[in-house]
Amino acid sequence: MLVRIKGAISNCYLLLGERPVLIDAGAPGDLGRILAGLKANGVEPKQLALILLTHGHSDHAGCAAELRRRSEAQIALHIGDVPLVRAGQNGVLAAQDLLGRLVRPFVDETFEAFEPDLAFREGISLEPYGLRGRVLPTPGHTAGSISVVLANGEALIGDVLRGSFVWPHRARPHYFCHDPETNQRSIVRLAREGLLRCHPGQFGSFPASQLGRYYDTGEGEVLEWSGKPV
Ligand SMILES: [Zn+2]
Repeated sequence: MLVRIKGAISNCYLLLGERPVLIDAGAPGDLGRILAGLKANGVEPKQLALILLTHGHSDHAGCAAELRRRSEAQIALHIGDVPLVRAGQNGVLAAQDLLGRLVRPFVDETFEAFEPDLAFREGISLEPYGLRGRVLPTPGHTAGSISVVLANGEALIGDVLRGSFVWPHRARPHYFCHDPETNQRSIVRLAREGLLRCHPGQFGSFPASQLGRYYDTGEGEVLEWSGKPV
């Protein structure tokens, strides 16, 4: 079962298989919201088996260190984002559009630095947690961004794209992107997975068909991707 836990500005997700797995750890002020979300789903912090981060930004890794102390769960993330969490900083947030430049001062905060228990390159198996799914590297937003692709056709995509504040069930380019071309390839990679639904790090989920609006099909389709950091 997949449950969304809403933070102040980002989403965490709880995967309830044999052993609970938390995907992302909110912004620094989200600890109470995350603990309440666990409790509401009958999960004691000590039962948490893994904290898997889609990437190392402050609104996804913000409470990871404190949650590890309370749960003794391992923290896992892609090796590409280890420098971010070791520093407790976002690095450069390259704005994709005017909105990105406007929100940057409000979201670019530091967080408690930590050393991950597990830093992987290709991904990790979710089988030990009783989950049918896998980790798919989807770099671009950051060097170490990953998605979690579940066998039921749902995917947790971090900040590869975001949901829409205005239009439910629609995808939008994220405010920030370290490497837009690489992110494009990651969107194509996700589209090839034959997914049904994507759950982003910001705002609500959207049908996987929305991925098609953000990559070049080679068939002259109109795209909405700006492609250039500003
Ligand atoms: Zn991010």
